[in-house]
Amino acid sequence: MTTETTARELFASLAGREPDGIWSAPGRVNLIGEHTDYNEGFVLPFAIPHRTVAAVGLRTDGLGRVSVASTFAEEPVEVALDELDRLFPTPAGAQPAVPEWAAYPLGVAWALQDAGATGSGVDIAIASDVPVGAGLSSSAAIEGAAASALNDLWNADLDRTALARIGRRAENEAVGAPTGIMDQMASMIGGVDTAIFLDCRTLEAQQVPLAVAEAGLAILVMDTRVKHAHSTGGYGERRAACERGAAIMGVPSLRDVSVDDLTRAQELMDDVTFRRVRHVITENQRVLDTVAVLRSEGPRAIGDLLVASHASMRDDFEISVPELDTAVEAALAAGALGARMTGGGFGGAAIALIEADAEAAVSAAVEAAFAAAGHAAPALFTVTPSAGARRDA
Ligand code: ADP
Ligand code: MG
Repeated sequence: MTTETTARELFASLAGREPDGIWSAPGRVNLIGEHTDYNEGFVLPFAIPHRTVAAVGLRTDGLGRVSVASTFAEEPVEVALDELDRLFPTPAGAQPAVPEWAAYPLGVAWALQDAGATGSGVDIAIASDVPVGAGLSSSAAIEGAAASALNDLWNADLDRTALARIGRRAENEAVGAPTGIMDQMASMIGGVDTAIFLDCRTLEAQQVPLAVAEAGLAILVMDTRVKHAHSTGGYGERRAACERGAAIMGVPSLRDVSVDDLTRAQELMDDVTFRRVRHVITENQRVLDTVAVLRSEGPRAIGDLLVASHASMRDDFEISVPELDTAVEAALAAGALGARMTGGGFGGAAIALIEADAEAAVSAAVEAAFAAAGHAAPALFTVTPSAGARRDA
């Protein structure tokens, strides 16, 4: 059964009628540029074929209420539209006032209302084939699907960048996860055979050609199945270290520091803060280099940049885990052109740039390495840069 069919069936059981339409938004893989987004730097994600689908319809009973159902959850959640601004924002450090999964779509409804959108009650049924918690941004996919649907049904007329901001607000302020804007932008404006080069300071986005299949290549996702938790622990600490580093350098954000400033940074900071800062600064440069190489030589030439990015995250930013290192090392040993962990770290997925006809061999090598290290088996699949958020029906 397709994800759309699943969403339609869930909508029928939630609302007892046909939806007004179907909207979907993809997950994303970040090709390179990790933990640079909240430092107002550069990222280079692309949308993947895996999507979250929302079947949505305005209520026919005249009640100003919003109901959300997901195949992930036993029970739908229903709240009054005029209650949303009492539920959100969620106070810092607190759990959302609704089940966490429901804070994503309800947070989108709240953020849209807060941006001036008005509309009548609505039912939302959600199904997805984006792996959750794998660093593929199922969160941006659910936000993007919900935001696209409500934008259309409430005639809010916001553009894609504005909808990305709505999704981010839902994630930051309703869910309480302090993430940057990259995931939502990739999901909203991604495209086939295209990576999105995003300046996270200006939100200026450029399309960069990423026709991997045409080059005889594939991007293998290696999901370690180790769960990460964004809203807690290491992620917040890394953000704090970056803010500390920027303050010490006397700049608003690490975007304003370049590789030429590294010597001075090292003199001013403790070792840990310096290494966090060095990751962000060198990673920004690697994104710029990757964009230049993709434009001049194509995807075959970016392997070393991916490898350098992984080393920086493992050694300087310290956000890798043994499973991610095993995946990267095994893929490289089996002939991958490049490999790196992707996403926020502490688990989730790594990617490898491989010859298209080597998928079986690299996959077998990665599986064998996981077994030998005593890690649970990874989930392995290839992705190609795919369409962004859209209305499907
Ligand atoms: P990631 O974005 O890497 O997959 P996150 O922790 O950012 O991981 O987001 C995952 C959370 O998003 C899930 O725990 C759940 O609360 C919510 N979510 C994602 N997809 C769905 C879905 N289809 N239905 C309900 N909730 C979802
Ligand atoms: Mg996420």
